[in-house]
Amino acid sequence: MLDRRKRIKSSEEAPTVTVSGDQCDFFDTLPDDIVLCILSKLGSTANRPADFISVLSTCKRLNALGVHSFVLSKVSSKGLTVKAKNWSESSHRFLKLCSDAGNVEACYTLGMIRFYCLQNRGSGASLMAKAAINSHAPALYSLAVIQFNGSGGSKNDKDLRAGVALCARAAFLGHIDALRELGHCLQDGYGVRQNITEGRRFLVQANARELAVVLSKTSSALIAGDWMTWNPLPHLRRGDVVGPGCPLLSDFGCNVPASEPLPSNKFLSEWFSDKVLGPGLRLCSHAGCGRPETRQHEFRRCSVCGAVNYCSRACQALDWKIRHKMECTQAERLVDDGDGEDNDNVDEDDGMLVES
Ligand SMILES: [Zn+2]
Ligand SMILES: [Zn+2]
Repeated sequence: MLDRRKRIKSSEEAPTVTVSGDQCDFFDTLPDDIVLCILSKLGSTANRPADFISVLSTCKRLNALGVHSFVLSKVSSKGLTVKAKNWSESSHRFLKLCSDAGNVEACYTLGMIRFYCLQNRGSGASLMAKAAINSHAPALYSLAVIQFNGSGGSKNDKDLRAGVALCARAAFLGHIDALRELGHCLQDGYGVRQNITEGRRFLVQANARELAVVLSKTSSALIAGDWMTWNPLPHLRRGDVVGPGCPLLSDFGCNVPASEPLPSNKFLSEWFSDKVLGPGLRLCSHAGCGRPETRQHEFRRCSVCGAVNYCSRACQALDWKIRHKMECTQAERLVDDGDGEDNDNVDEDDGMLVES
C-alpha cells in the first residue's frame, strides 16, 4: 500500500537539506505513510471542501497521496459539503472517489444528490443503502422516507413495513426525525400495529432529544439568558413575526432556534431553489428538508388548508411547530381537492397536543 522505501530512496538521491536552511526540503524526506496520516487528519478536520482540495493542488506528491483511499475515507462531512451552486463534474468525481474509498458520509451525500437531484434513482438508492449498512442513521431514515412514499416508483411501490423497520433502526441509532416518524406510525397504526402509548412515548423522547441538541448548540444564548421567554399560546397569535428563534418548543414557553438542517438537505433546498420541478411536482414544505416529489401527488398534504405538502409525518409535525400552525387556515383550501394520494394526515393540532 505505502511506498515508503521508494520515498526514502528518492530522498537519499536528492539531499537538499542545507545547513544554512534556505533550501530545506524536509518534506521530501518524509515517508509516504506519515504524509498520508497528515493528509487524513487534514481531511477529517476540514471545514469545507476547499480546505482539503487546495492542499492537494500544491504539488504532485500531495496530489497523488491525497486521493489515496485511506485519506478519502476519512474526509469529514463538512469537507464533503459541496454547495449546490458550485456543483460540477469535478465535485461529483470527488464525492464518487470518497464513496468508493468507503467514506460512509460521501455515500449518503452522493446517494441523496443522485436520487433526488440527478434523478439517477437506482445508483442513488444503492449508495444510500451502502451507508445504511454501515449504520448511517440519516441514510436509514432517508431510505425509510423513500419506502413510505414509494419514491422513484409508483404508488404501489410503497412499502410501509420496510419504512417502519428502517425508521426503527435509525431511531435506535439516535436519529430524532426517525424517532418522531416512528412515534406517529405507532400512534396511527401506519405500517405497524397501533400502539398509542408507545407512540406517545417515542414522541416525548424525540422532543426531549431535540431540546438537548438545540440547547447544546445555543450555549451562548443560554449564557445571555434570552432563550427562555414566556410565549403563551403563540399559535393563537396569527401573523406574529417570530424573531431569530423559532417557537419549536413554544408549548413549553421557550423560544429556541430550530436545529440546523443536514448538509445534504441544505444541498437539496439550494439545488431546487432555482429549478423548475416537473409538471405538478412539489417540494416538501418543511424548509429544512428539500426533498421533491418524484411523481404527482406523492407527498401528504395538510388536511386543513391543503396548501402545504410533506414527505413524511416527521416533516409535517416539525413544520407545524416551527411555522405552519401560525399560517394554517381552512379558508386557504385549494380547489384541487382530493388530489393527494395520502390524505390521512395527522390532525392540525398534532404537533401541539400529541407531542407535548
Ligand atoms: Zn420533508
Ligand atoms: Zn395547513
